Amino acid sequence: MQDALSNRPELPPEIARRRTFAIISHPDAGKTTLTEKFLLFGGAIQMAGQVRAKGEARRTRSDFMQMEKDRGISVSASAMSFDFGRYRFNLVDTPGHSDFSEDTYRTLTAVDAAIMVIDGAKGVESQTRKLFEVCRLRDLPILTFCNKMDRESRETFDIIDEIQENLAIDVTPASWPIGQGAEFIGCYDLLRNRLELMDRADRNRVAETVVLEGLDDPKMAEHIPAHLLAQLREDVEMARELLPPLDVKSVQEGHLSPIWFGSAINSFGVKELMEGIAAYGPEPQPQRAERVVAPEEEKVAGFVFKVQANMDPKHRDRVAFVRLASGHFMRGMKLTHVRAKKQMAVTNPVLFLAADRELAEEAWAGDIIGIPNHGQLRIGDALTEGEALRFTGIPSFAPELLQACRAGDPMKAKHLDKALTQFAEEGAAKVFKPAFGSGFIVGVVGQLQFEVLASRIELEYGLPVRFEPTQFTSARWVSGGKEAVEKFAAANRQHIAHDSDGDVVFLTRLQWDIDRVARDWPDVSLTATKEMM
Ligand code: GDP
Repeated sequence: MQDALSNRPELPPEIARRRTFAIISHPDAGKTTLTEKFLLFGGAIQMAGQVRAKGEARRTRSDFMQMEKDRGISVSASAMSFDFGRYRFNLVDTPGHSDFSEDTYRTLTAVDAAIMVIDGAKGVESQTRKLFEVCRLRDLPILTFCNKMDRESRETFDIIDEIQENLAIDVTPASWPIGQGAEFIGCYDLLRNRLELMDRADRNRVAETVVLEGLDDPKMAEHIPAHLLAQLREDVEMARELLPPLDVKSVQEGHLSPIWFGSAINSFGVKELMEGIAAYGPEPQPQRAERVVAPEEEKVAGFVFKVQANMDPKHRDRVAFVRLASGHFMRGMKLTHVRAKKQMAVTNPVLFLAADRELAEEAWAGDIIGIPNHGQLRIGDALTEGEALRFTGIPSFAPELLQACRAGDPMKAKHLDKALTQFAEEGAAKVFKPAFGSGFIVGVVGQLQFEVLASRIELEYGLPVRFEPTQFTSARWVSGGKEAVEKFAAANRQHIAHDSDGDVVFLTRLQWDIDRVARDWPDVSLTATKEMM
C-alpha cells in the first residue's frame, strides 16, 4: 500500500481536488457544530442552525426514534458534499453514539482522512481513542481540531502531550492559542505567521486576520495584551524547539497530526482547518481490493460501505452508500454488481449536497454516491465496469450483546425473518439462526440498538417483537477446511448458528467455550471479525 502511495502519478484535476473525510470525536466535543460551520464556509448553507435542527443530536432514545421516522434526513446527513475554494469536500458522517460504533468503523473505510475533534478542557476521551485506533489500522491521516478554546481549557502543551502519549502519534501545532477561557483572543498561525483574532460578538463570521512579519512584528502589541504576548512568544519558541515541524509526507502517512485550536461555535479556527484539509488531507487514495485500485484508473469501481433503509416504510427501498474508488461515473451507467454477477443500471444515483439530495449526473473517484435499491446492494459489495473485483478491509465485528428475538404473534414469524434479514443487510444488527431450536438470536454492539430495532420492526413491519436474554454472550465466526467445519458444527450443535450470509457461527457463553475450542479443535479457528464481501 505504502509503495503505491509514494509513487503516485498526478491525478486528473477533477479527482485531485476531492477531499473525502470523516470527523471522529467523543460525544459533545463539537462535531455537529463543526460540521455546520464547514457547510457555512463551504457556502452550502446560509445560516448556522440548519444542521443542528436536523443533525444527529441523537442523544436519547426518543431523539433517535424521531430521526428514524424522519429517515430522509438521516440519509442525507450520512454524506455531505460541498465546495471549498477549488476543492470539493465530501464529509462522511460517523454516528456519534457509541452504540453505533460498527457503522462508524465501516464509514472509516470510505474516507481518506479523519478530523479528530477534541474538547480543549477534556482532551482525549474514550470514544475518540477507540475511533483513533481504527484510523491507525488503516494509516489514515489525522488532522486535529482542539475545540472550545473560548472556555477554560487545559494548557496547550498538556493537550499536545496527551495526544502524543495517549495515541502514540506525533503532533505539530498549526496554530497556537493566545490566552485562555474568557481571555482567549485568538491564535497565532504558525504555518503562515499570521494572527487570527476571534470575534465573540458575531459567531457566524470568519475571524479577522492580521498579517504580520513573524512574532516580533511590532503590530502584535496592538492586538495582544502584553502578558499574553510574552507568553505566546515563549510558548512558540519552546514549541518550535520541542515539537516536530510540519512534514506533509509524515501527515499523509498517518504518523504526524497537525493541530489547530479554535472554537467551532464562534466559527473560529474553522477556515484554517478547512485550508489544512485542502492542503494536507490527501487526494483520493488507492483503495484496497484483491489488487490496489488506483483513483486515476479509467474504469469505474466502487464499494458499498453503508446501507440505510429509506424513508418510506411501505416501500422497502434503501440507499446504498458507495465510495467511488476509481474512474468517472456518469448517471445511467451500467455497472456490474460483482457478488450477484448481475448488471445494474444506475439511473438515479444521489449526491448529498448539504441538506438536499440531488441527482448525481456525474461523480469521480473519491466521491460518495447513494444508490437507491430494493435490497440487492449489501455492505462490502463491489460495483465495477465488469471486473470481478472484491474490496477488502471492510470489517464485520462480533457483537458484544446477544438476545433472542421472537415475534409477538407467532403466526408472523415469517415476517420477522424478513425484517431481521433487512436489518442484518443494513449492518444494523447481526442475525443468527440457531441450528438448534427456533427463533433468532440478534447481536448488537450496544443495548440501545435492541430498542431501536424493536421499534423499527414495529414501525416498518407492523410487527411487535420481544427481545429476551439468552444463555449466549458472544459469537465467533468459524473458519477452517469445509470438512473440519462440518464436523465441528455437528459435534457442537447447541452452539451453532448461521449468520445472514449463511456462514457458520459459534455462539459462546464464556471465554471458556472459546478456549475449549482452541484446545480441542485445532483444525478450526474462531474469529471475532469477518470481512464483508
Ligand atoms: P457533538 O456531540 O460532538 O456533535 O457536539 P455538538 O456540536 O452538539 O456540541 C456539544 C455542545 O458543545 C453544544 O452545546 C455546543 O453548543 C457546544 N459547543 C460546540 N462548540 C463549542 C465551542 O467552540 N465553544 C463552546 N463554549 N461550546 C461549544
